[in-house]
Amino acid sequence: MCLTHAHFITRDHALEALATSIPSWLLLGALQTGTLWDHHEQIEISFMSGSGTRHQRRKVKRIFQEIFRFTNLTLLWVNDGDGHVRIAFDDGFASQSTVGTKCLWVPKNHWTMNLQSIRPNDDCPSHMEEQTIKHECMHLLAFVHEHQVPERLKHYLFNQSKVDKYYKRQLGMSEEDIKTNITNLWPPGKLENHSPFDPKSITQYQFPGHLIQNGRGTPRNTELSPTDKAVLVLNYARLAPDPLVSGWTVAYAADVIGIKNGWREKIIAATHPHDVRRLYSEWSASPQASAFSTRKGPRGLGEAVQVAVNCILFGTLGLLAAFKLLRSLL
Ligand SMILES: [Zn+2]
Repeated sequence: MCLTHAHFITRDHALEALATSIPSWLLLGALQTGTLWDHHEQIEISFMSGSGTRHQRRKVKRIFQEIFRFTNLTLLWVNDGDGHVRIAFDDGFASQSTVGTKCLWVPKNHWTMNLQSIRPNDDCPSHMEEQTIKHECMHLLAFVHEHQVPERLKHYLFNQSKVDKYYKRQLGMSEEDIKTNITNLWPPGKLENHSPFDPKSITQYQFPGHLIQNGRGTPRNTELSPTDKAVLVLNYARLAPDPLVSGWTVAYAADVIGIKNGWREKIIAATHPHDVRRLYSEWSASPQASAFSTRKGPRGLGEAVQVAVNCILFGTLGLLAAFKLLRSLL
């Protein structure tokens, strides 16, 4: 089992699931509102005292460094237990991480991230280890799960009873954990700076087909997707890309996301990362971004009905959107 503390501060309320046997709304690499790190911040990271072999630590350091290249943040590895971010390798807990700057609120004697099942005796990470470490690192950078964003309803719907049974049986998760980490959707206003829905995001779990109403499972993502990288670049913009990822300019990231017309020009003309982030945030809330979410809908009437049912939970606006969708299918 591989769980991820992601969206909340306290451990009791922060669990989210990242299945290992399964291993760890057209928009999103999504970010939780208010948890982005400041630009050019130096993030002090440490391991918990005595936690992890040198091999485990090397794997984490290398993968984190690869991801941070897409940001303007600096990683500073400090003495055990001293970091703002504190990593443990405790196989007694599932893999999990606190989201973004919420790490700063966790008591110093607690880890903010746990990485389970990282092999202690070699420096070469398996696909599963790559997936786990990258997924948790993205939570550290304020990303939430792709499958918990409302736009997911336009792409696939869960077989709720099967999801409940599967995760209870396979991972021993409680009903509350399943809701918190898999099936609950983020309410309006709790996400910002999102991208078009991205089924290849490292932040999305791999779901077997029998858990999905259309029978098509989700891919097993072990790498950051292009959209994951683009959202990092646009939220933590650098004046010039890191030489090792030199193609990842703000303009390229905007193209990967599909930002067009006046928005693209405004974003690439911005000279400060604050402005890039602000303009990207404004774009993601704009009608142009919303247009992405209507490009592709559920593939059948049954799913459309389910969308309507689900949308009731999210208020009148969601219901109206589902009604439009139904009309388009009839
Ligand atoms: Zn997660």
